[in-house]
Amino acid sequence: ARKKLQKLKKTPAITKDGTEITLLANIELPDDCPAALEAGANGVGLFRSEFLFMGRNNKIPSEEEQFEQYKKAVTAMKGRPVTIRTLDIGADKPLDQSEQTALNPALGLRAIRYCLAEPQIFLTQLRAILRASAFGKVRILIPMLAHAFEIDQSLAMIAQAKAELREQGVKFDDEVDVGAMIEIPAAALALPMFVKRMDFLSIGTNDLIQYTLAIDRVDYEVAHLYNPLHPAVLQLISMTIAAGHKAGIDVAVCGEMAGDVKLTRLLLGMGLREFSMHPAQLLSVKQEILNSDLARILPQTRKIMRSMEPNVIADAVEQLQLM
Ligand code: PEP
Ligand code: MG
Repeated sequence: ARKKLQKLKKTPAITKDGTEITLLANIELPDDCPAALEAGANGVGLFRSEFLFMGRNNKIPSEEEQFEQYKKAVTAMKGRPVTIRTLDIGADKPLDQSEQTALNPALGLRAIRYCLAEPQIFLTQLRAILRASAFGKVRILIPMLAHAFEIDQSLAMIAQAKAELREQGVKFDDEVDVGAMIEIPAAALALPMFVKRMDFLSIGTNDLIQYTLAIDRVDYEVAHLYNPLHPAVLQLISMTIAAGHKAGIDVAVCGEMAGDVKLTRLLLGMGLREFSMHPAQLLSVKQEILNSDLARILPQTRKIMRSMEPNVIADAVEQLQLM
């Protein structure tokens, strides 16, 4: 079966009815790029940059160090887009294990909140990412946005980083796309705020599920309540895809749901055209896409989206896989 999958490496991901799907890889470090290419990825949909910062006894990597790593990923991907997520530190991704003092770290000073509170760390990272954009196609992705002022401040910081580089005569791509992770329910419910200001969206289902269902994603005692098929979660995902496409911007899913073949057809039916996942899942998802017919999937997906009954949804998702 593995050999059969491997044959699909160069096959474009197109549904039976001719709809083209973009398959991207999630990476933690530039060294993951060969595996992404080996799996036939169209690019990197999520470079979790915090892995460059973790396990270093709180020593923040310098601009030069970061630039080298981002550049390494960009050149390794040979012209394919590399989506670099700005520092998503805190909660389940602590900079330093001993530093966890907040009572509710998942609701605390993490990700973009941390970056806006530490503008020098943020600016250093943005400069390093922008410098790497001179070597290929880079996209900047901001995690955990909920407020309009956070979007505006992030964009202002990117403009400042660009101005500094320009002043120093350092090359970068002035047209670099900036996108938002949609992973807080408030963001999914206030999409006009995002589509107006952003070039693309990427749905982080791992956190979106955590915050929608109020379940700590790392607490095993509530792990049985962590249900991607909860109707509230499905509504938020579907709304985000529809609002992004209506505004003419790309929408990806980069949470674990994107790599779950049992959910591929449901996401296709919701209109998703960009999936980003661990490289190991990529070819299985592609195989599912190649065997999918949107004309058959759509009516079934509509039925799922109209239902608020968990049993009806679970049964219908199962049937979807048999179509
Ligand atoms: C997510 O939240 O779904 C996501 C992709 O980001 P992370 O798992 O790194 O929080
Ligand atoms: Mg997340």
